[in-house]
Amino acid sequence: MSRYSRKQRSDVDLPKAKLDRESLRQALDLFRYIRPYQRQFVLALLALLTSSSLSLAFPYLAGSIVDAASTQVRGGKIAGVNSAALTLVGVLAVQSLVLFFHALTFARVGQQCLVDIRRDTYARLITLPMVFFAKRRVGELASRLSADLSQIEDTVVTILPQFLRQTTLLIGGVSLIAVTSLKLTGIMLASLPVLTVVAVIFGRRTRKLARETQDRLAETATIVEETLQGVLNVKTFTNEGYELRRYDTGLKRVLSTAMRAAWVRASFIAFIVFALFGSIVLVLWSGAKSLEAGEITFGQLTRFILYTTFVAGAMGQFAELYSQIQKSVGSTQRVRELLRETGEVEARVDNANAAAAPRVQGDVRFENVRFTYPSREGIEVLHGIDLQATPGQKIALVGASGAGKSTLISLVLRLYDPSSGRVLVDGRDAREYPLTELRRQMSMVPQEVLLFGASIAENIAYGRPGATTAEIEAAARQANAHDFIRTFPEGYATQVGDRGIQLSGGQRQRIAIARAILRNPAILILDEATSSLDSESERLIQEALQGLMHGRTSFIIAHRLSTIRHADRILVLADGRIVESGTHEELEKIDGGVYRHLASLQFRTGGEPAGTVGHDDELTS
Ligand code: ADP
Repeated sequence: MSRYSRKQRSDVDLPKAKLDRESLRQALDLFRYIRPYQRQFVLALLALLTSSSLSLAFPYLAGSIVDAASTQVRGGKIAGVNSAALTLVGVLAVQSLVLFFHALTFARVGQQCLVDIRRDTYARLITLPMVFFAKRRVGELASRLSADLSQIEDTVVTILPQFLRQTTLLIGGVSLIAVTSLKLTGIMLASLPVLTVVAVIFGRRTRKLARETQDRLAETATIVEETLQGVLNVKTFTNEGYELRRYDTGLKRVLSTAMRAAWVRASFIAFIVFALFGSIVLVLWSGAKSLEAGEITFGQLTRFILYTTFVAGAMGQFAELYSQIQKSVGSTQRVRELLRETGEVEARVDNANAAAAPRVQGDVRFENVRFTYPSREGIEVLHGIDLQATPGQKIALVGASGAGKSTLISLVLRLYDPSSGRVLVDGRDAREYPLTELRRQMSMVPQEVLLFGASIAENIAYGRPGATTAEIEAAARQANAHDFIRTFPEGYATQVGDRGIQLSGGQRQRIAIARAILRNPAILILDEATSSLDSESERLIQEALQGLMHGRTSFIIAHRLSTIRHADRILVLADGRIVESGTHEELEKIDGGVYRHLASLQFRTGGEPAGTVGHDDELTS
């Protein structure tokens, strides 16, 4: 458990990449997503530069007003003040318009890019081979990706424009002050290195503590997750108090780390404010002395002060912006890695209903197939499987849990490829078929049927998107599902899933069968549900399945031997090997045979299944 929580911990906060040329170059890779919106982006950049430059005009014009006023005292001309003020208002108005334009354009470009990046990432994600998912915790991956993508969105829409704006203000501000008084510029810039060093030191410390807080928080989250998942255990062992104490200890550690971080941050803020305003006071003070000495005018002093606040503000923001940019570079890393992975197939928005591929006969052959899961090197799961299923045959797989039934099936589905040996479909190596084409020929009725939060009709049509209402209904009739669907007030439009009605296990199975009928596959895979159904549902399902299997090569992972008596061949698997093969009658006769033993256990109680073969509770993916 501690390994589990540590793993989760390190992924909670967004990673920050070291900012060097290489990492930046790689992050800029994602900029190709801007290319389609290049024109808008360049316009937005120009607008941003314009509005920032206009901001720089503000202190200058403000200084002019002050100067005009001091001239007026001597010369009595109010017109100077008025025209300077009017110019200033005009500049402000133009600036606001430009600002509106670039804020909007940056947002538009950013959001459009993000739509593209999100679509590409998702397309890549769902087409990745099973190996990829086997090595990762999928829920975690999804949440990490969504955090990464939000960070990238933030970067394009806010951080990048801010960074450019502040840079313009900093450089422009410093240059404009330098033009009038080098002395004051010198004073202001002298405090810069000190501030930077302090900011870097504090920044590092806060980041470390912030990460630690996140880690501690993740630990407590793990406690909540575990106890809620196993709430039955907590209750039956009456360990509420124990868990609460564990959680409380965790929370106290969160608090103490958070407080240490807050302490550092508070001192940092206090220091920065003091230092920034201190340098402003310094400039003000020496400015006042220059004014007294007649070296500069009132207006110039006003400009200095305003420029100094601009520059100081920009400097203050840089620390934050820098850390944000680090985060962004870090987040692009995972997204880029994902985009670089090769998918099994090309997923496109428009190929959902591509033309049907030439139909295979459904002859499936395994030739000395050995298999090791890529995620578990060194442990061979299948040791030389040979089998042949001619078109239309029903092949049943039985064996204890862990014998390799699901693994064998995933090789048929080409979720994985054999480590050695070959899987042949219609005499041709399965690897030679385009993957989509091959999988279109297959359909699976799983143990646990996943229904999407949509209508019953849409759920059935998942077998063949684009099927007509009549086809859907015909499939439902064949699957013995039509009658129960009709009893719902909204019929086929009834919503199922989290926000709709819940269907019983038997009903879900029949929906899955209807799906498979609609798909009309040459090769069918059935993973029998382990949970017993009432005999009426059982009968309806068996009847529907018999209809579905007719004329198709079927592989049945059987848990109840009663249902596979009529299989053309039964393969008994043990430890990744086929140990017995034959019909029910043949296998029954083998003295001391595995099948005979299993059968004796199950049929002892007079036809009613006394248990299941093995105790699988899940099919390998
Ligand atoms: P069955 O379906 O007969 O219960 P499986 O094919 O699920 O058996 O499992 C066969 C062996 O392969 C077991 O030892 C199991 O632990 C292992 N195994 C199954 N799935 C995976 C996987 N995704 N990664 C690594 N090992 C797996």
